[in-house]
Amino acid sequence: MLDEKLEPIFADVLRRNPGEDEFHQAVREVLDSLGAVIAKHPDYAEGALIERICEPERQIIFRVPWVDDKGQVQINRGFRVQFNSALGPFKGGLRFHPSVLLGTVKFLGFEQVFKNALTGMPIGGGKGGSDFDPKGRSEHEIMRFCQSFMTELSRHLGEYTDVPAGDIGVGQREIGYMFGQYKRITNRYESGVLTGKGLTWGGSRVRTEATGYGAVYFVERMLGTRKQSFDGKKVIVSGAGNVAIYTIEKVSKLGGRVIACSDSHGYVVENSGSGIDLDLLKEIKEKKRGRVADYAAARGAGVTYVPGGQIWDVPADIAMPSATQNELTAHDARTLVKNGVIAVGEGANMPCTPEAVRVFMEGNVLFAPGKAANAGGVATSALEMQQNASRDSWTFEATEQRLANIMNGIHDRCAEVADVYGSPGNYVLGANVTGFIRVAEAMRALGVV
Ligand code: GLU
Repeated sequence: MLDEKLEPIFADVLRRNPGEDEFHQAVREVLDSLGAVIAKHPDYAEGALIERICEPERQIIFRVPWVDDKGQVQINRGFRVQFNSALGPFKGGLRFHPSVLLGTVKFLGFEQVFKNALTGMPIGGGKGGSDFDPKGRSEHEIMRFCQSFMTELSRHLGEYTDVPAGDIGVGQREIGYMFGQYKRITNRYESGVLTGKGLTWGGSRVRTEATGYGAVYFVERMLGTRKQSFDGKKVIVSGAGNVAIYTIEKVSKLGGRVIACSDSHGYVVENSGSGIDLDLLKEIKEKKRGRVADYAAARGAGVTYVPGGQIWDVPADIAMPSATQNELTAHDARTLVKNGVIAVGEGANMPCTPEAVRVFMEGNVLFAPGKAANAGGVATSALEMQQNASRDSWTFEATEQRLANIMNGIHDRCAEVADVYGSPGNYVLGANVTGFIRVAEAMRALGVV
């Protein structure tokens, strides 16, 4: 049940944004936590502050025409939702995936506002993308699409206005093509307009690893509250992108054993005691853009490949869902709890359904919500912006140390706020309340904006 002051706000969100289920889900989850805030501080319910936070500042939808390798004209739809700039320029990734709709981008943008606030860095929240499907497209097609996408998007960006990065389907290659087009259109080498760049053209060390590493740091610190750690634990990691790969890398460095990983086609379980062969996985995923099935084929007898199955059926101590939204259902959560899972860390954005989160909470499982646990990516983007602004380039060690400090800080603030609000260990509440208060304070200071 929502607080009676929040009920009409949510009804308005439903009315204004019909059919955008994921956006509704993300808003509902935050409003659920805000009941406790307005009970303690009723002034946060005044001045339409919460209503304004639920309404994006600006939503841009545009046509992206491009020519494929056969000479056919293709049309995609581009989006940028500039959600909230009270704390700094809009900041958040671009997702290229056929499932992308305005509601997808809005949900991601809304999450990003709170996530970015949690980092404590001067970045607002936004998100963008397209329903373009990069799978099976040639290098030239990807480049032409990125150039066309940026031709339109460029007029809405700027290092002080809006700073995109990557997300699903957008990595360093795509950021490169988009940066090249932005530079050409504006005739400015404005490094701080995009993050996730390559090292030779303004990128930051650790940006590629940051989301995965950060999620592992967060969960390690969370485990510490129960005198546990990754050391000696069996871990499963879903997803096949950067987040999953660098989660696996850091878990292994901390002594954990990643026994299963997946992509959208199936999952693989290691039968040997050593865990996933990371070098082989990187070779297949990063160099050949292959699938987990190719990894299984290359590994041979040491692994079992399960096409189309659910990785959550594999018994493990810790689960790190790092693929996409709503990939882990209540059914999966019950299976994990039955199999003795002690902690779940969201590497992806909102990968657990609300019902799944409830199952974890009821099962006394440590649960790290994505907007806190996966904030390391965007935090390192903010470090990239700092380096760009000062025309500097930091070492791997210095950058990683800053990332680790940021993640530990986020963890501790969330835990502290959960305590203050009488719900110790509730990181969902801690993250939502901390993020909300930061944004709300800034918005109040800026007047009716
Ligand atoms: N797409 C990432 C996220 O979900 C990173 C965004 C960024 O670096 O701006 O947080």
